[in-house]
Amino acid sequence: MGGLDLDALLRSRVVDVPDFPQPGVVFKDISPLLADHVAFAGAVDAIVAHHGRGTVDKVVGIEARGFIVAAPVAYHFGAGFVPVRKPGKLPLATHETAYDLEYGQNVLQVHENAFSPGDRVLIVDDVLATGGTAAAAARLVGTAGAEVVGLSVLLELEFLGGRAAFVAEHPDVDVHALLPY
Ligand code: AMP
Repeated sequence: MGGLDLDALLRSRVVDVPDFPQPGVVFKDISPLLADHVAFAGAVDAIVAHHGRGTVDKVVGIEARGFIVAAPVAYHFGAGFVPVRKPGKLPLATHETAYDLEYGQNVLQVHENAFSPGDRVLIVDDVLATGGTAAAAARLVGTAGAEVVGLSVLLELEFLGGRAAFVAEHPDVDVHALLPY
């Protein structure tokens, strides 16, 4: 990295926003990181370097901020990109899965034809919090006939225990976070 302290740079480009989107939540805003070309490219490169080119056939991005990071990661891998989306956004036949939030439920969908049999898949999102979103995305990939080999996130909120929850459901997946908090 030519003397660049990537960890310090990335951390300096994440902004804590208290009480967003609701009271008591500290939202981690990555828009300054995305706006800094050195930080953005460094984060994308670090994800690809961690897994290694040639190890992944498809990169899954989770709507919406996950798309922003997953698409350049896919390009850099020479892999395809597959969106996992909220209900009603994907036009073809979908698989879907529901998962619990603190209040209520979320549903995610993926196109049934998104993968070729045996595709090795890396899931990419911005933040790993409780792990429910990533675990649901991994379930969908399995249902659609592909194999999840990795999960990469920019930020992991370690105090929420998302990694353990994810690994309990998907024990063979390499979970990788650029910035543990
Ligand atoms: P979870 O399912 O709890 O792991 O939540 C992960 C999803 O919620 C990710 O797609 C994030 O975009 C978003 N998220 C959860 N907590 C935060 C936070 N503190 N700051 C920013 N995004 C968050």
